[in-house]
Amino acid sequence: MKLYPTIGLEIHAELLTESKVFCTCSAEFGGDPNSRCCPVCSGLPGTLPVLNQKAVEYIIKAGYVMNCDISRFTKWDRKNYFYPDLPKAYQISQMPRPVCLDGYVDIVSDGEEKRIRINRIHLEEDAGKLIHDERTKQTLADYNRCGIPLIEIVTEPDFHSAADVTAFVEKIRLLLQYAGVCDGRMEQGSLRCDVNISLAEKDAKELGTRAEIKNLNSVRAIGRAIEYEIYRQSELIESGVKVIQETRRFVDGSGETVTMRSKEDAQDYRYFPDPDIPPIIFTEEEIRGIASSVPEMPESRKARYVKEYGIAEKDADSLINNKLVCFFFEEAIKAYNSPKSIAAFILVELMRRINLGEADMNDLPFEAKDFARLVEIMDGNKINRSHGKNVLRSMLESGKKADEVCDEESLWIKEDLGQAEEVIDKILADNPKAVEQYRNGEQKVFGFLMGQANRQLKGAASPNAIKEILEGKLKN
Ligand code: ZN
Ligand code: MN
Repeated sequence: MKLYPTIGLEIHAELLTESKVFCTCSAEFGGDPNSRCCPVCSGLPGTLPVLNQKAVEYIIKAGYVMNCDISRFTKWDRKNYFYPDLPKAYQISQMPRPVCLDGYVDIVSDGEEKRIRINRIHLEEDAGKLIHDERTKQTLADYNRCGIPLIEIVTEPDFHSAADVTAFVEKIRLLLQYAGVCDGRMEQGSLRCDVNISLAEKDAKELGTRAEIKNLNSVRAIGRAIEYEIYRQSELIESGVKVIQETRRFVDGSGETVTMRSKEDAQDYRYFPDPDIPPIIFTEEEIRGIASSVPEMPESRKARYVKEYGIAEKDADSLINNKLVCFFFEEAIKAYNSPKSIAAFILVELMRRINLGEADMNDLPFEAKDFARLVEIMDGNKINRSHGKNVLRSMLESGKKADEVCDEESLWIKEDLGQAEEVIDKILADNPKAVEQYRNGEQKVFGFLMGQANRQLKGAASPNAIKEILEGKLKN
C-alpha cells in the first residue's frame, strides 16, 4: 500500500509594529518579564482595546504579496479558551470575516513549480509565554508578548512532502521580510508554523485522519517533524491501527512528535463578535494605496538582475535570498553602476568575511557606496586585484574608506609607463631564449614573461598596461 501525505499549514507571523495591536505597549522582542504590559494587554476587566492602524496596513500588505483578495468589510471575534498564557481568557481574532481571502504563492520544490493556495489570512493578538522551571517545578508567565499583532496564514492542504513545506515557509518568510511587515526571525518566535498532516492512499476519495504539530520554529524542525509524522502514521495504518485526531508537539532532542491534547474543533472556542472593536469598511482606494506602497518583491528583482544585468541565475538567487544583501547590492550599484562586478565581490569576498564571523550584515562599519568605491578602484586597475581583498578586510576592521586604506598602505598603482617599458626591455634582453620560443609560436612562455614583469613592476603599472606593452614588444 503506497500512502500519500497531504499537508496544510497555519503560519503565525508577528508584525513589525512599534506598539501592540490593542494598546500602546512596546511590541519589541524581549524586555524584562512583564515590563511591557498595561491593563489592556494583561486583560484587566473594564479596559477598552483600540485597534492599531499600522497592524491593519501590514496585514493588507501581507495579503497583497500573497495574491489574496482583500475584504472591504472585516470584523473581529472573541476566541474563548482558558489557558494561563492568555490572561483575558479569550483571544481577539477573526473568524467569519478575515482581512484576506483566497490567495496563492508559487514555490519551487524538488525542481518543480507548484502553486500553493492560501485559504485566508487574519489578524489577531499573540498570547504570553509560559516558562516552565524544571528545578522548582513551577511555571512562570511572561505577558510581554500578549497583544503583539499576529497574522495567521492558513493554507489549503496543497503540500505533499516535507520539501514542499520548507520551500513554502522560506518563501513566505522572504515575502514578509521584503514587504517590511515581519522580521521572520524564527529563532525568536516571530514566525511559527503549525502543520496538519494526514496519510491516505493516492487518489483516495477521502483524506486520512490528521494530526496537528504545533509551534515549529525552525525550517529544520518543520522538515524533521513532517518526516517523523509520515513515518509514525504509516506504521500505524500499515499495522491496522487508527490514527487519532490530536495535537502533537515536536521534541527536538529525539526528533519525535508526542501527544499534547486531543484536537478541539472550532465550536469549542465559542466564537462571538467582539463588542469592543468596531468592524472596518475599507474603500477600494485605501486598499490600493496600501498595496501600491509595497516594495518590489524578490522574484521580480531576480528576473531583473538576470535579464538587465546579465547576472547568473544562481548568483541572482543568492542576492535575493537575503533581504539585507539584496538591498545592499542595490544601494551599491547606485553609487557605481557595474552590477556584475559588485555582485561578484559581494557574493565572494563580503560573504566570505560574513561566513567567517568577521562581519555582520546587520551591522557593517561602512555604507554600500563605500563598498562600491572599492570595487570601482579595482575595476579601474587603480590597485592590484589581490590587494582589494585586503582593503576590504581593513575596511571591515577599521571602518575606514577604501581610498584612505589605499593611501595609508601605498597601494595605488602609479601607471608609470616609462618605467614599465624600461623594465620589460630588460626582461626581454635577459631572456632571449623565451623570446625566441614565443616568436616560434610557443605562446605559453608569455605567462612566464608576464609573471616576471608583474613582479618587478608591482605598484608601478597595472597588469593591463604591462600586458599591452609586453605584447607590443614581442610582436616586433
Ligand atoms: Zn498593553
Ligand atoms: Mn491563531
